[in-house]
Amino acid sequence: MYWEPSLEGMKRADLEALQVQRLRSVVSRCLQSPFYRERLAERGLTADAITSIADLQRLPFTTKEDLRTHYPYGLLTVPPRELVRLHCSSGTTGNPTVIFHNAHDLASWANLVARSLFAAGVRDTDVFQNICGYGLFTGGLGFQYGAERLGALTIPAGAGNTRRQIKLMQDFGTTAVHAIPSYLGRLREVFTEMGLDPKRDTCLRILVIGAEPHSEETRRRIEAMFGVKAFNSYGLSEMNGPGVAFECEHQAGLHLWEDAFIPEIVDPDTLEPVPVGQRGELVLTTLDRQAMPILRYRTRDLTRFLPVDCPCGRTHRLIDRITGRSDDMFIIKGCNVFPIQVERVLMRFAELGQDYLIVLDSLDGNDEMHLEVELRPEGFNDDFNALEKLRRRIATAVRDEVLVTPQVKLLEPGKLPKSEGKAVRVRDQRQQH
Ligand code: AMP
Ligand code: ZN
Repeated sequence: MYWEPSLEGMKRADLEALQVQRLRSVVSRCLQSPFYRERLAERGLTADAITSIADLQRLPFTTKEDLRTHYPYGLLTVPPRELVRLHCSSGTTGNPTVIFHNAHDLASWANLVARSLFAAGVRDTDVFQNICGYGLFTGGLGFQYGAERLGALTIPAGAGNTRRQIKLMQDFGTTAVHAIPSYLGRLREVFTEMGLDPKRDTCLRILVIGAEPHSEETRRRIEAMFGVKAFNSYGLSEMNGPGVAFECEHQAGLHLWEDAFIPEIVDPDTLEPVPVGQRGELVLTTLDRQAMPILRYRTRDLTRFLPVDCPCGRTHRLIDRITGRSDDMFIIKGCNVFPIQVERVLMRFAELGQDYLIVLDSLDGNDEMHLEVELRPEGFNDDFNALEKLRRRIATAVRDEVLVTPQVKLLEPGKLPKSEGKAVRVRDQRQQH
């Protein structure tokens, strides 16, 4: 069962033809924006240059820096009075990147989110509680309008106030929740504090998690904590927000909606496409956005195309979960480390909670990696010997994975700083010393 059978099950050849046709109109639209007019003119390109999908390669890449430099209006292709909303990306310093939408764009986005939720099994009979920040962050309004479009009763719960979240879940019989993965550990803890068990005391049947990198191990933990499946949702504000790629009921990878975006996976250094199945940087082109189309956006997110067909029959290609951003990687003692590698190891320890913080420091010119992790309430005790042994086991297991031995600090449950939005996993203090 699909939300839009004619698009989701489209034959590959037809899907490609649709992409070429849409790409041509995107290019002619782009010629209306000062930024792209110049970029396309340099290459002597007009819509006529696009006759097959391979012609995508002739188009220029766009980076976050481009969006910042031409902030705020440089990529607009419609008169400002046509705009109805803007969103910004999170976690940036200096000029944020801002994306403008007209009415068509918002309708198209809501439809993509509805399609995504439907693929994960959400229906108009569900009560969908959206536990994340509203405002400029796209997860709030993005899921709100998507779930409304689907016809679910949608609770705009916002972030934080965990006891109230649980009360809402109970009073209104919430069956589906969207939240960022780093919040769900906290939510589960508060259930326990209140003497409740989500499996017994709620009607929850579906979780949707996304907006930040998380490992398969973390997903499995979240599923065990709530006793339901958790579906991975990927998106970024430059491509609307949620609704770019989503897991269907089979959880075999994330379907990237190829009627709305053209995905490429490239080597971040050479910008050449990598062979199917190999990891690289995801590059996306919008196909159905009018106010601010973007060509070949370098997301910095690392993933790969999965060389398999999904049993659900949707023809839109699967990408693997995002293993991090090329700019998340840090180098310590000559080793390249992604936070998610550390996370994967930590999640194997049943004694530990979900949260962790990697602190990089330098002492007398020597780099050090500190790892702060919280014990689970059940794992918390004052048996010094046992804790010391656990610390050593964690340090060894992390070293085996990333080749650097961290200094592990075990904290009481709830001691790590909590952010309302995306979790901060790395603090690099090396420059300061
Ligand atoms: P923003 O535009 O501020 O919402 O941030 C978008 C970024 O969040 C993406 O470029 C990814 O780095 C990250 N992100 C979003 N969804 C996921 C996901 N499901 N898994 C991993 N990272 C994600
Ligand atoms: Zn599928």
